[in-house]
Amino acid sequence: MSTRFVPSLCAYCGTGCGVVYQVADDVPVAALPNPACQVNRGRLCIKGWSLAEHLRAPGRLTTPLIRHGADTVPASWDKALALTAERLRRVIDKSGPDAVMVLSSARITNEENYLAQKFARTVIGTNNVDHCARLCHSASVAGLAATLGSGAMTNSMEDLEKSRCILIIGSNTTECHPLLASRILRARAEGAAILVADPRTTQLAGMATLHLRLASGTDVALLNAMCHVILRDGLQVPDIASKTEGFEEFSEMVKSVDLAETSALTGLPVADIERAARLYANGPSAICYAMGITQYASGTDRVGACANLALLCGNIGVPGGGVNPLRGQNNVQGACDMGALPDSYPGYVKVADPKVREAMAAAWGTPLPDRPGLKLTELPEAMLDGRVKALYVIGENPLRSDPDIGHLAEAMKSLDFLVVQDIFHTATTALADVTLPAAASAEKDGTFTNTERRCSRLRRAIPPPGDALPDGDIIALLASAMGHPWKTRDAEAIFDEMRGVVPSYAGMTYERLGIQGLQWPCPTPDHPGTPILHVNGCTRGKGKFMLARQMPPAEAVDDAYPFTLSTGRNFAHYHTATMTGASPTLAREGGHVYVEMHPSDAQSLEIAQGMRVRIDSRRGAIHAYVRITPGIRQGTVFVPFHYGEGPANALTIASLDPVCGIPEFKRCAVRIAPDEAS
Ligand code: SF4
Repeated sequence: MSTRFVPSLCAYCGTGCGVVYQVADDVPVAALPNPACQVNRGRLCIKGWSLAEHLRAPGRLTTPLIRHGADTVPASWDKALALTAERLRRVIDKSGPDAVMVLSSARITNEENYLAQKFARTVIGTNNVDHCARLCHSASVAGLAATLGSGAMTNSMEDLEKSRCILIIGSNTTECHPLLASRILRARAEGAAILVADPRTTQLAGMATLHLRLASGTDVALLNAMCHVILRDGLQVPDIASKTEGFEEFSEMVKSVDLAETSALTGLPVADIERAARLYANGPSAICYAMGITQYASGTDRVGACANLALLCGNIGVPGGGVNPLRGQNNVQGACDMGALPDSYPGYVKVADPKVREAMAAAWGTPLPDRPGLKLTELPEAMLDGRVKALYVIGENPLRSDPDIGHLAEAMKSLDFLVVQDIFHTATTALADVTLPAAASAEKDGTFTNTERRCSRLRRAIPPPGDALPDGDIIALLASAMGHPWKTRDAEAIFDEMRGVVPSYAGMTYERLGIQGLQWPCPTPDHPGTPILHVNGCTRGKGKFMLARQMPPAEAVDDAYPFTLSTGRNFAHYHTATMTGASPTLAREGGHVYVEMHPSDAQSLEIAQGMRVRIDSRRGAIHAYVRITPGIRQGTVFVPFHYGEGPANALTIASLDPVCGIPEFKRCAVRIAPDEAS
């Protein structure tokens, strides 16, 4: 037996830890922490340690499948690709290229995302390409681009250890980004003040200098009130008006904040708001946020409110400062960078700009469509009204991850053709006309870009099972089947093509990436990468204040639906649990679907610990097991969205942010009752 050790990357959260696969005769024995990788410094969380378990788990897709009525039958690649090409071509011929949409993925590599958007634009001829960043951090891309000029994490994870104060708002960091959280804990041990703004008493909240246990969704009211205190007490950076844009209007807005009213709305004592403001103003201070900020119908404004606070105190472009959106999936940052977006080419240059379009058309050797495409969250209505008739889903499971999945399923059933590419069967493959078996990240070469803009290499450790192929190979084969033979399927060659059109990656090569990777922008071959953005002024020139206002919920509670539902993640699972659900360790640790409730709420409904309950919203119903905890605010309940047995997104509302299209996952109205069958 020969044993090999292959350096690669964790396939789960956006922290992007380095792993080493231990492989014996092409069998993955274990994933071990890579001690040479500075991201995780020889450590992993439970998901990382369990990474090898899903690779050879039962249920991996190993051959293409074609639907015949209610059944699917195995098929050769030639047959499945020919059928897919023929059905896509039929839709294009009849209804035009904009009748097709491609959903790319934050789980596949940069190279594969680059190919997916290129396939949509040059083979299909549409800008209808998007991916699940629409659901998690599109508000960061829009909100930070508007205020700072770049929609990415401004500082590095390592840099958090230089902060005197860290505000964690809308992030359950120890569960969702455990190795990044270890940096926050190290800063705390060195004396940094830790502020946690969260309706739930998360693990980090329990260790915080100050837990701001605010009412669900009232974050902007808190942030504006902190800015009010900072201005009132003269704690802002000197000459702020001349260093920024929009200060006059912004200061007028926050000076009018009434702290007593904010206290009543948020449920926070005025003294806590004032203390938080003073601690934050004693910088350098960092802000870390996640989906508790972005997943609202006012997500863009909520991100803007975070940037306002940082600008006001001079915490942009400095060590220990920053505004740091924590990306949920391993390659959300990369998928955005690669242009898997309906309005942007790789590198965030705009489809609507004729000069840019001309340059991209010259690079790719074909004319390009000029109309920006549909956002993922606009897709359900576009399918229902017939604008989209064919959908190509790559490594995503929208029937678990998207809001109001009952409505989405109805819309998907109206399609003429659905092709889904994944490593396991999912709720979405169950509807597919053609299912294509893909390789897992341990089975291919390429790069991921983590939450701190660090592009690093993954290396093929084992072959894919059966006939499964890397996603990039499948996309390239489908392009060939549609009459566009692409020159190469080699990951490094695709990376080199990509960096030719994306200036912030231009100085990176596979050789330079090594084990540590490089942080963009890295524009030239001798550039060391950029750990902190905006050091010499913001990317957009001057930082711009956004007039962010507290907005009411898209759906308020009432007598019929008296609880506010919040959804999110837990430590054991990743996204829709397609991979973590196949890992025996993580499936055991994740247990069954549950709902967290406050003891007073449980008592008023005569609900006991562990009881099975039914949760209804105006859109659907699920069952879950009750966890009674004082760590959640009265009137709010929490359900993690991972579980197929009780999909939280059967309940959520598809109310969208008007700028970026992110849905209000974090707030909708539900009712709860003991399950009569239990
Ligand atoms: S912190 Fe994230 S990237 Fe690191 S091992 Fe855990 S899941 Fe993987």
